[in-house]
Amino acid sequence: MAESMPTIFFGHGNPMLTVSENEYTRGWMAAGLALPRPRAILAVSAHWYARGELAVTTSSRPETIHDFYGFPEELYGVEYRAPGSLELAGRVRELLAPERVESDGRRGMDHGVWCVLRHVFPEADIPIVQLSMDAGKSSEFHYEVGKRLAPLREEGVLIVGSGNIVHNLSEYSWGARSAFAYDWADRFEKRVRELLAVRDDAALIDYGRLGPDAGLSIPTPEHYLPLLYVLGAANPAGSPDALSFPVEGIEGGSMSMLAVQIG
Ligand code: ZN
Repeated sequence: MAESMPTIFFGHGNPMLTVSENEYTRGWMAAGLALPRPRAILAVSAHWYARGELAVTTSSRPETIHDFYGFPEELYGVEYRAPGSLELAGRVRELLAPERVESDGRRGMDHGVWCVLRHVFPEADIPIVQLSMDAGKSSEFHYEVGKRLAPLREEGVLIVGSGNIVHNLSEYSWGARSAFAYDWADRFEKRVRELLAVRDDAALIDYGRLGPDAGLSIPTPEHYLPLLYVLGAANPAGSPDALSFPVEGIEGGSMSMLAVQIG
């Protein structure tokens, strides 16, 4: 039987990391080298989050979407042209049935995926399918979708979530790297680590109950929710799956760069 793939969540942070070299990008690269080589990747990113839209990419070579504004020119020239996989897209639809999953043959890959994967798998030779998040659904639904996708791990597919556990752009200091972190950001990230360690998935799903620190850390849900897919797809609490944090740090005061690997 094939080795069961881990699941992994990346804090993607500032798009400039695509063309940078620092402790975060080195951590991503090291994570890529340590992971078993996947047959394909299923990615869920904060930047494909739309109400009523549950879809998978079906392009044979998804375009690199430069979905950010006001950044230096060199960033708009970056391409990450990994192949798609119709087979994996079909398998996702099958696993999520009777939930209706649209095929999107025109959509490319957003920066939440390629900014990180460019460092994790620099060869861009592993087929990637991206799954959208339906913004009209509950946290519980996002977690359940992750759960339904769990069989992919036995089929050599790496399930990747990309967002940020703490993501507050209105408090974010551009350019101030790991120099400081707001107390609430630090506390909330620690709390999430504790809950992950004991696999209190219910508390992580119902994050609104985690108090004011959660409110400041997750002012909008889209960067947090990809974690729930990674969690849902991992083996349940009490399993021997190891928990590790291949990348750590809080950037610009209010953005957690924490990467979470289960298995
Ligand atoms: Zn983002």
